[in-house]
Amino acid sequence: MSERVIPLIDQRLVSVPARIPQIGTTPIGRVGDQLGRPLRDLRISVTDRCNFRCSYCMPKDIFDKDYPYLPHSSLLTFEEITRVARQFVAHGVQKIRLTGGEPLLRKNLEILIEQLAALRTVEGQPLDITLTTNGSLLARKALALKAAGLQRVTVSLDGLDDTIFRAMNDVDFPVADVLDGIAAAQAAGLGPIKVNMVVKRGTNDHEILPMARHFKGTGIVLRFIEYMDVGATNGWRMDEVLPSAEVVQRIHRELPLVQLGASAPGETAERWGYADGSGEIGVISSVTQAFCSDCNRARLSTEGQLYLCLFASQGHDLRHLIRGDATDEQLASAIAAIWQGRGDRYSELRASLPPEAGAGTRRVEMSYIGG
Ligand code: SAM
Ligand code: SF4
Ligand code: SF4
Repeated sequence: MSERVIPLIDQRLVSVPARIPQIGTTPIGRVGDQLGRPLRDLRISVTDRCNFRCSYCMPKDIFDKDYPYLPHSSLLTFEEITRVARQFVAHGVQKIRLTGGEPLLRKNLEILIEQLAALRTVEGQPLDITLTTNGSLLARKALALKAAGLQRVTVSLDGLDDTIFRAMNDVDFPVADVLDGIAAAQAAGLGPIKVNMVVKRGTNDHEILPMARHFKGTGIVLRFIEYMDVGATNGWRMDEVLPSAEVVQRIHRELPLVQLGASAPGETAERWGYADGSGEIGVISSVTQAFCSDCNRARLSTEGQLYLCLFASQGHDLRHLIRGDATDEQLASAIAAIWQGRGDRYSELRASLPPEAGAGTRRVEMSYIGG
């Protein structure tokens, strides 16, 4: 049994109020951070709740019936989300990913998607709008999501073996229903679809090849994610991380691969194509190979806290501006000032950090800010 570290304080409460700069910050226009990284990608968490209890994300013993989820009044409304997203877009954001918790649990999510789909980038182009989901409600919702303006989806699936999958989601959810959701998304035209598999050594690493074989030739891009030390509740251990290099080797031995170039700057996945031309896979090496140098992602929590890194221990409270009397221009200036102060590069520093900064310390949970 691994030892579980229970967080002593609720990380969601740790935030600094976002300030409206007095002078000197362009209210709109592209902004760079301390390391010259632009703001391109905004991930919005629309709920902190989930119907799964994946042990690496929302372990059941902590996220139980007594867990203090956010009250509805704390959540940003769709209008508030769209207003703040508009200011991010004015600073160069081109892509919005809705996440959670399980985003499809948020009621009437299609209305938010419609509102976001009406925004235009600085260049006047439609945004790239996508969503990460566990797929459990996708079969029911795919058509409505597409009609609302969602372009594509990423579905999380940690294996094809029903017993393993039911154990990993820890709510006994069958794999067949997620596969139905993926098929519905494909039929609705929500593509190109990506499937994310978190690989935990000793738990589901024997599912790597069956997953690769299953999705090869389907047009679906399977991506393997290294199990990360996010949050403070999942009892992360380095020996449970299977390095991406090993994932690639295991697949390459049976299904030859060739490395492909990055599709976009700041892309998290390293791409590999099947040598026979039947599609590609991706590997996301958040632990063994840092990709902070071009990280252009901002994260907005369900209650309007801006996080500058997945591993941040503190958010910047935008909600008090959104719900106060700040004008759009002031809100935009505040966002620019926060981004300009950003120096986060946790994955690059991980190896050199003292042990007390490692797993189990005070960090925000992934289910709160989204992946
Ligand atoms: N519930 C949705 C889902 O599972 O797709 C969206 C939210 S979930 C937090 C987003 C992504 O984070 C999922 O692909 C999930 O597998 C991944 N994730 C969560 N905890 C992780 C961890 N400890 N290491 C790596 N990936 C993780
Ligand atoms: Fe829920 Fe997604 Fe976290 Fe699993 S990874 S518990 S589906 S939020
Ligand atoms: Fe971006 Fe932080 Fe991840 Fe580095 S560790 S890639 S800065 S989110």
